[in-house]
Amino acid sequence: MFSYSRKNNAIIFQTAISYLKGVGPSRAQILGKELGIFTYGDLANFFPNRYIDRTRFYKIKELQPNSSEVQLIGMISGLRTVKQKRGSRLVAQFTDDSGQMELVWFRGAKWIKDSIKGNVPYVIFGKVTHFNGVFNMPHPEMELLSEYKKGFKTAMQPVYRSTELLTNKGVSNRVMQKMVQQLYFEAKGKFGETLSQKIIDQQQLISKNEAMFSIHFPQSQEQLTKARYRLKFEELFFIQLQLIVKNLTNKTKNKGYVFDRVGDHFHTFYKNHLPFELTNAQKMVLKEIRKDLNTGAQMNRLLQGDVGSGKTIVAVLTMLIAIDNGFQSALIAPTEILASQHFKAVEELLLPLGINVRLLTGSSTAAQRRVIHQELESGSLHIIIGTHALFEDKVIFKNLGLAIIDEQHRFGVAQRAKMWMKNDLPPHILVMTATPIPRTLAMSVYGDLDISVIDELPPGRKMIKTIHRFDNNRLAVFKFLRDEIVKGRQVYIVYPLIQESEQLDYKDLMDGYESISREFPLPDFRISIVHGKMKSADKEYEMQRFVKGETQIMVATTVIEVGVNVPNASVMIIESAERFGLSQLHQLRGRVGRGADQSYCILMSGQKLSKEAKTRLQTMVSTNDGFKIAEVDLKLRGPGDLMGTQQSGVLNLKIADIVHDADLLYKARKAAREVAYSNLGHTDPAYAHVWQTFESILKNKSLWANIS
Ligand code: ADP
Ligand code: MG
Repeated sequence: MFSYSRKNNAIIFQTAISYLKGVGPSRAQILGKELGIFTYGDLANFFPNRYIDRTRFYKIKELQPNSSEVQLIGMISGLRTVKQKRGSRLVAQFTDDSGQMELVWFRGAKWIKDSIKGNVPYVIFGKVTHFNGVFNMPHPEMELLSEYKKGFKTAMQPVYRSTELLTNKGVSNRVMQKMVQQLYFEAKGKFGETLSQKIIDQQQLISKNEAMFSIHFPQSQEQLTKARYRLKFEELFFIQLQLIVKNLTNKTKNKGYVFDRVGDHFHTFYKNHLPFELTNAQKMVLKEIRKDLNTGAQMNRLLQGDVGSGKTIVAVLTMLIAIDNGFQSALIAPTEILASQHFKAVEELLLPLGINVRLLTGSSTAAQRRVIHQELESGSLHIIIGTHALFEDKVIFKNLGLAIIDEQHRFGVAQRAKMWMKNDLPPHILVMTATPIPRTLAMSVYGDLDISVIDELPPGRKMIKTIHRFDNNRLAVFKFLRDEIVKGRQVYIVYPLIQESEQLDYKDLMDGYESISREFPLPDFRISIVHGKMKSADKEYEMQRFVKGETQIMVATTVIEVGVNVPNASVMIIESAERFGLSQLHQLRGRVGRGADQSYCILMSGQKLSKEAKTRLQTMVSTNDGFKIAEVDLKLRGPGDLMGTQQSGVLNLKIADIVHDADLLYKARKAAREVAYSNLGHTDPAYAHVWQTFESILKNKSLWANIS
């Protein structure tokens, strides 16, 4: 019997919207085109943007200049067209027993003229403005009083998103409301429950039916809150369930090599050559990784750790485990500079173990490549470090067991997948990122990856002092620089690089370079410059001069953003700091504070700052904590912008919002984990209903397709 009623529901919600009383083919067409509403179900799931109180009626004499939205009852008369500079406007008198005002339309005049009736009372609603001593209401919502009386009366009336075309075609908010009302006359009570009773009880949710009604026609604020809570929970829950199930099936499907030996290389290195004691966070992450490598499933782990938190050593130790188990490793970095830094660091660390490590980048010579290709195929090369050159098909491994990808946000998912094909079973994947992602976001976007976090910096790190200075303080800043350089420190001066105006940015950089050269002349001062227009050999040469301490000032664009490690550099000056995003500012700041000395970050900006730019700079000044910064960034930019378009599917939420509904997201994830883990075979009857919904979501690619 139950399945019979479900089938019925499905049919009613699939009904084309043109069958709804009061819609018809031409409106149906506009609704589809403008709002994506094609069926009854689409309309039911077209939730209001906000709600307004329409129980109160005003008299014209009560109106105040700057009244907000008001509702009045009166007659409309005296329609006339008034010519203005461009086009014309339509004006009408509106009269009640207390006075007169004007109604004004700048668009849609024809439809208004044709439809307005004289000598009958209307209910009008809108914002009033006060102009030349007369109150007027532009583009009022209008409805015959007699019609108004037929509708649901509630203190909270839904306001729906609209478009200009809809307004011009007479599909006002009132019309939308009436359509939804009509829908509910026909469909009320027919929303199939999407969750299991067990979850509804546990989470104290209202039913789907009640929620779907109250979201459109709440009888009170409290009821609205409950409806929103229920629908948000459901949305987040099913997204989490999808991610968790995907992760679990990946683990059963993607068999991986078993690294069950922790052998000589690892132990020897750990005991005799580790240059420092690992932090607790590093130890913990290593434990998580070792566990992954031993399960027989492919590891897919994201390692998040702020700049300087010590991810490299974790990578090195993981590669040693691979070697101990007879496998090769690849470490991939997004830039040549970074790849060669990794190479040098790793080579030096592993020198005492006699491990063969090589570097492959775009600028490797043909001869070098030949050796590398040959050694990779014979298996005598244990560790290859490089740029995306490693993704190329001609790079063939004897036995690749581990791919570590540094700075994940520079590589696409497709590139990551390329590494999978380089052995019979996919190698274990460790993705390292220094761009902390707020937990809520990571859960939504990387829910199918396992996540480790290094949330602790190595001991003895000094806080980087960050200050904000305006351009007219430049002389004082230069003096400070000179003092630091005289003390033996090195400094970075970074200029923005924004693609659209590359030419201009280049000019800024060169102007800056010239004035710095004047201010810091030879022979006392030596300056390096690195920018995107240079050949990579030249870049590398300049970079090396700075790394070796031959130059004290590094003038650069953001090419140095990622990973570069010069412990003696203790001052970071960021020019036009207002043009950088928060995460980029934080990344840049992370280039200093790597040595024993007190480090500084100076954010230079013009006087005129947008509100957002101010928030960014203030945030940088007030905290060094990358996760806090990421939270602010998420609030400023929203999840879509933060992650780029590739992830927008997961983030394209209809009613929930991962910034404001973080608590609910945790709850939803917990509930989803319980369902997924206790019940992967879909056998527990308590969750049968959830799995039914789940299957239908997979089939329809949307929770809101409403075939629930
Ligand atoms: P990131 O996470 O930014 O890649 P790195 O791995 O480059 O950080 O480490 C930053 C610096 O901290 C390096 O100089 C490294 O040698 C040092 N370091 C890493 N771990 C520790 C530790 N546990 N104790 C002391 N220094 C450490
Ligand atoms: Mg690093």
